[in-house]
Amino acid sequence: MITPEKYFSVVPKTINMEIRSELYSTNEFTFAVAVILSAQATDKKVNEVTPSLFAVAPTPEKMAALGVDGIKKYISQISFFNNKAKSIYNLSQELSGLCDRADWKFPQKYHNRDELMKLSGIGQKTANVVMNVLWGAPNIGVDTHVFRNAHRYGWVGAGENTPEKVEAKLLQIIPKKYHSIVNHVMVLHGRYICRAIAPKCAECPVAKWCECKDKKI
Ligand code: SF4
Repeated sequence: MITPEKYFSVVPKTINMEIRSELYSTNEFTFAVAVILSAQATDKKVNEVTPSLFAVAPTPEKMAALGVDGIKKYISQISFFNNKAKSIYNLSQELSGLCDRADWKFPQKYHNRDELMKLSGIGQKTANVVMNVLWGAPNIGVDTHVFRNAHRYGWVGAGENTPEKVEAKLLQIIPKKYHSIVNHVMVLHGRYICRAIAPKCAECPVAKWCECKDKKI
């Protein structure tokens, strides 16, 4: 069995830990916008539209100035773009007036998950990813890769059927020293090696412990 200790002591050595996220962003605000856009969409797709959006709207003030329809024009290739444009517009209005600089940063009060989740478009998963990537917080953002492979490795059971339940269980069973890297490592390993369909077991660094290896999974 792949225990969390084995997994997190081995897999990070095979991943570029310098890259904290593959989403394109220019500052903390645009990173949060990119994470909102990435719900039910691939990072690759998001990265196709964000450079032109962030070139004209790198701060909440400039994003709000585009209006909902203006934002939609940039993100129309992304799934659920209507709702995402509204969320991004509302978020931009809420964050306007704090600082209008290219190196925009969240004020300290938002380094708290409850405060962050009061903002438009920022649910638990988005808040976890933002806090984890930007500030190294020990939250576990449970996206499709983390959810799937936590079940695949037997770390969570059928009862853990929501991202919130999976996060709670992972926080219990994964040693604390690894919490801040769980999302990053599981997302990259899940995206490129331990994929949903046809995982690349021959290239996998934890294959010798894996009970799923080479099975049709
Ligand atoms: S051996 Fe295959 S199924 Fe097991 S963790 Fe590696 S890629 Fe995933």
